[in-house]
Amino acid sequence: MSNSECIFCKIIAGEIPAPLLASNSDAVAIADISPVAPTHYLILPRKHEENAVALHRSDPNALTALFALVDQLATSEGITDYRLVFNTGAGAGQSVFHAHLHLVAGRSFSWPPG
Ligand code: AMP
Ligand code: ZN
Repeated sequence: MSNSECIFCKIIAGEIPAPLLASNSDAVAIADISPVAPTHYLILPRKHEENAVALHRSDPNALTALFALVDQLATSEGITDYRLVFNTGAGAGQSVFHAHLHLVAGRSFSWPPG
């Protein structure tokens, strides 16, 4: 089910143009509009759920579809060092409340994250 107010639902429906870098039956990958690294992709479930755990609760197989696209992109682009991030809740930096996985690569990272 899509949410008419949701920017990622609009992208998935083709109402807002965004090139799809990869896709499968349950997820799509797009470039982040405001990248924080040379490589910054967003992996979006086609189904609207507020965050990753809500997605998992509604469909325990849904996260597999996201990771299949991570595998496809990382393998095809030869990316071996990267961060995968689900910001969950505004206090953790989530700004779009449609579950999404950040794939960030191409620069050095510090730990712990800021
Ligand atoms: P988060 O802060 O974890 O919710 O991540 C939301 C991400 O969506 C941010 O990194 C934004 O730059 C990105 N974003 C917002 N609108 C768009 C858009 N139209 N196309 C691509 N990325 C977007
Ligand atoms: Zn949505």
